[in-house]
Amino acid sequence: MENLPGIVITGASGRMGQMLVQTVMASDKASLVGAIERAGHPWVGMDIGEAMGGQAVGVVVTDQPLDAFAKAQAVIDFTAPAATLQFAKLAAQARAVHVIGTTGMTDEDIAKLEPCGRHAVIVRAGNMSLGVNLLTQLTKKVAAALDDDFDIEVIESHHNQKVDAPSGTALMLGEAAAEGRGVDLADVADRGRDGITGARKKGDIGFVAIRGGDIVGEHDVMFAAPGERIVLRHLASDRAVFARGALKAALWGQDKKPGEYDMLDVLGL
Ligand code: NAP
Repeated sequence: MENLPGIVITGASGRMGQMLVQTVMASDKASLVGAIERAGHPWVGMDIGEAMGGQAVGVVVTDQPLDAFAKAQAVIDFTAPAATLQFAKLAAQARAVHVIGTTGMTDEDIAKLEPCGRHAVIVRAGNMSLGVNLLTQLTKKVAAALDDDFDIEVIESHHNQKVDAPSGTALMLGEAAAEGRGVDLADVADRGRDGITGARKKGDIGFVAIRGGDIVGEHDVMFAAPGERIVLRHLASDRAVFARGALKAALWGQDKKPGEYDMLDVLGL
């Protein structure tokens, strides 16, 4: 156990945080060495295993990230943009691999990661599953093969607690479609239709967000032309797929040079 890479989970009480704690605890390739929550959170000071309603595991939840990162080889972070930017600075200071699953980061936020990536490995992806990363490659290929008689729409569904839209995955798929078409997504994205919008603009890539119940994450990329439609679909039914992907990224990053990477690098796609 002693020589396994030590992993810290931030936002340990969150939906993904708890799944990540379970995934790392169950792994024979890594060990859980820290769990972070914000100051004042009721879990701070508790054993993470007991806080999650199980047996003690010997890791106490702390609100002192730098101390925890300094003892770890990797930090897995599925929290919120402001928290992730703070954690990125601390992970760089500690030279720990920073795996970022947090979505909803603006271009400005992402630019702020650049100096951190000079000191440590950062792996960031709006979706850590093998299936979605494969889907981005398929989307790019299909978009490259079809002309703009095919209208591209990205349709995503998530649980009713999700705070950002479109999802990070929908944006990844939109980027892939734009890349396949040789255009800049910022120039063609249509992200909010309401009222008298006028007819659809040829070449646009549209986004639709559905929110309800406990949907883990569903994404369709639709290519619609007169008389025919192609739909590429990914359905996630278990958050464990994201947690397993994130752990894989944390282990992959151990022998890499400092820099910013994504899941396509990790999966070799
Ligand atoms: P969640 O249940 O709301 O969990 C977020 C966690 O982060 C909570 O424990 C929250 O603590 C903590 N947090 C927020 N701000 C913090 C701060 N400033 N300092 C410390 N902790 C902070 O959300 P979730 O469903 O797990 O999703 C988390 C993120 O992962 C979202 O951005 C989501 O879109 C993304 N996600 C990504 C993937 C992927 O594959 N890349 C997959 C699923 C989800 P409090 O409760 O105290 O606020």
